[in-house]
Amino acid sequence: MGDKLNVVLIICDTLRKDVLDLYGGKASTLELRDLANKLDMEMKWFNRVSNSFWTLPSHYTLFTGLLPSEHKVHEPEDLVSFDYPRYYEKLARSCRGTMISLEARKKGYYSIGISNNTGFVNYQFGLSRYFNEFYVNPFGFSVDVNQGLTNKDVLLLHQLSELYNNKFTAVKELLFNKRFNTIFEATRAKLKIRINRYFNHDRIIDKGGYLTLSLIREGSVRLREPFFLFINLMECHEPYRFSKKYSFSITPEVFQRFYLGLMNINKKLLNNLKEDYIKDSEYCLGIISSIIKEISRYTKSFVVIITSDHGQEFGEHGSISHNVGSLYEENIGVPVIVMAPRLAIKDDVQPYYVDLIQVNNLVKSIVSSDPISFINMQGSDYVMISESYGAVYPSYLEGEELQELYRQRLRVTRKAIYYKNTKQSIIKTQRYC
Ligand SMILES: [Zn+2]
Repeated sequence: MGDKLNVVLIICDTLRKDVLDLYGGKASTLELRDLANKLDMEMKWFNRVSNSFWTLPSHYTLFTGLLPSEHKVHEPEDLVSFDYPRYYEKLARSCRGTMISLEARKKGYYSIGISNNTGFVNYQFGLSRYFNEFYVNPFGFSVDVNQGLTNKDVLLLHQLSELYNNKFTAVKELLFNKRFNTIFEATRAKLKIRINRYFNHDRIIDKGGYLTLSLIREGSVRLREPFFLFINLMECHEPYRFSKKYSFSITPEVFQRFYLGLMNINKKLLNNLKEDYIKDSEYCLGIISSIIKEISRYTKSFVVIITSDHGQEFGEHGSISHNVGSLYEENIGVPVIVMAPRLAIKDDVQPYYVDLIQVNNLVKSIVSSDPISFINMQGSDYVMISESYGAVYPSYLEGEELQELYRQRLRVTRKAIYYKNTKQSIIKTQRYC
């Protein structure tokens, strides 16, 4: 084993831990465990607490090792209407924390990022900073780009959609320019989407996982050793399936109206959504296994850290999705799974709780060539804090009456939770219920 271990940090956006079998849930991690054995790697998993309930603050905590109250890239405390992209962009741009991508580079690592969260984990919100290469899925997770497309197919379709308003103009122009092969390739890719949609209808939606795998498999991503590879996968994020049975999609307006009791969503529907979520989580695990297999063709000297930025609620505490500001177990209880070559691990302690800051520390210690020590990761008197200031998109609430209702609801929402050492000890705060 060389001096430096390559690091693969995978965020399964929106994955809560209790759906995984490692934590008593239904989604199987058997393939992953078998793979670890086959690659002669050790696998450890921990209960993790996310330091925020949504994507942007959590990613900043993971990248900087600072709490949301320290890096300040978090939701607003009041409910005034605001232009959220600009608001968050400004906060992100003024963040003073040192990014993990830069720390890895300083230690001689080649930093690569692949993001399928086109909403927040991108250039606009500053999370691509200091990476040598950073890819953002050009389709976004709301488009049903499906399994079976290669990266080349996707880039071609993306380029064509950028160039032409509709397919008739595209065909006309391409015929005029005698680009017959392009027409053939694009038709083939479109047909693949059609076939996949037909067979996968009502089942799984690939939200970029397959493309991420293609990027690695086809060598588009340059894995120059030692490398730090960050991946955000969106398979566990809504929407959960395209089906006519669902009369709504989880939009910010829907989750806020449900939260305020202005809209009812029956239990059966919520259960169905959760079942789909579990299937999508399994699909995400399958993609991860395939990614790890691909990486193992390049190198045997790597560590994989699989974790999430926040959980997902299905009506457990009167809310759905993950944007209203709640800090219950389903919102912040997320997994952390570490796979590493056996010799790289120094101790064999299974700490009970870890948080994003400790995951940041773990990455920093690996890129500094320290042996992986889970004791150092834990710390005997380490206190984990999860913070919430309010909703992610308060501007969706029109009118003073609704805003007042929201304020009342927020007064009984957990503002901060503390976990200490191996036990979950929750200290009540002002806005706690
Ligand atoms: Zn997220």
